[in-house]
Amino acid sequence: MNKWRPLLLSLVVFFVFSVSEAFGAGYVDNHMHLWSSYLNHFWPPVPEETVVYEGETYTKPTEGTRKQLLEALDHAGFTNGVALSGAYFWGSAWLPKDDLENKVKKENNFAAIQCLASGNRLTFVASINPLLDFAPEEVDRCAESLGAKGLKIHFNASRVDVTNPEHMRKVMEVLSRATAHDMPVLLHYRGFMLPYDPETFTSFLEETLGTIPGLRIQFAHCTGFGGFSDKTEAVFNALVEFCRKNPDAGKRVWVDVSGAIVDDALADIWNKMTKALGMEKPDFMYRTTPEEAKNLNRSMRELGLEKVLFASDWGGSATLQPKPHSQLLRKELGLTNEEFEALLTNRGPWK
Ligand SMILES: [Zn+2]
Repeated sequence: MNKWRPLLLSLVVFFVFSVSEAFGAGYVDNHMHLWSSYLNHFWPPVPEETVVYEGETYTKPTEGTRKQLLEALDHAGFTNGVALSGAYFWGSAWLPKDDLENKVKKENNFAAIQCLASGNRLTFVASINPLLDFAPEEVDRCAESLGAKGLKIHFNASRVDVTNPEHMRKVMEVLSRATAHDMPVLLHYRGFMLPYDPETFTSFLEETLGTIPGLRIQFAHCTGFGGFSDKTEAVFNALVEFCRKNPDAGKRVWVDVSGAIVDDALADIWNKMTKALGMEKPDFMYRTTPEEAKNLNRSMRELGLEKVLFASDWGGSATLQPKPHSQLLRKELGLTNEEFEALLTNRGPWK
C-alpha cells in the first residue's frame, strides 16, 4: 500500500484541480491556520479562553481542520481562506526534534487533504522550517505531489537570523525553489530574539526580492507581530521606502493586517502562551493604542491599500476569527466603509 500512496495522492490532486473552479470572488481571509491532532498533541496546554464580542461568544479553537475554518468563514459571510500548514512548527525550539522529516511530511499532507476537501474554498499553503536540511526537497514535493499554492515560513519559530550568512543561504534556496514552482511566500518576518530594525529589513528585501525575479511575498502581521509599536512602524516604513525605490520588486509585495491591532483577548492569551512555552524573552503584548492605530493607517496608505490584505490569523485566540476580527478592524483601522469593503476582497498573490 505504502508505495502506491504518492501515486494515489497525485491522482486525487489532479482530479480535484481539474474539476474545481477558480478562487472565489467574495471576502477572503488571507491568513488562517490548519493543524492536525497529531501536531496538537505536542503543543503545550494553553488555558481555555471564551470571549464575548459584539454580543457573540467565541472560544479559542482547539481543533484546526477544514470543518472549523469553513464554519468560521461561513459565520462571517466570507467565501475563501488562505490556509497554512502547521509543518513549520516541526524543527522549532518548542517541539521535540526527532523524526522531523516524517513529521513535516505528515503535517503538509494533512493540510493538503483538508484544502482539497474544502470545495476549493481553502487555498493550500505548505510550510517548512527553511533551516532544515531537507527543506528544498520538501518544497518540491509540496508543489509537485500536493499541489501547494504557496509556502509559509516563520522566522520566529525557525529562529532564522537574517544577519547569519548560512541561514540566508538556506532561506534563499527555499525562496528560489518556491518561486520556481510559482508559489508565493507568506512570511512571518519578526523574531523576538533576532535583529528587527529597518536597516536589516532593507538588506533582506534587497537580497531576496531584489535578486530573485518573480519572488512574491506576503508579509504577515504588517511585517511585525503583536500590535504596531514604533519599532514595527519603522520596519513597515522601510518596506514602503523599498517599494518606492524598486517599483518592479514593489509589485511583488503585500502585507496582511492580522496581529497589527491587538485586542484584550489576544494580549491575554499571548502573554499566557509565551509563559507556557518558556520563551526566553517574551515581548509583553498590550492592547493597541489609538495613536498606534493612526500610525498604522498612515503607513498602510503610504504602501497602497491595494497591497493590504485582510487576515485574522485564525486559530491564535478566541477573537482571531474572520467575524470578530473584521468587526474590530472596521472600527479601528480608520478606513472608510468603501475602503474597508475593498480590503476584505483583496486577493494578494493567491489564486
Ligand atoms: Zn499566523
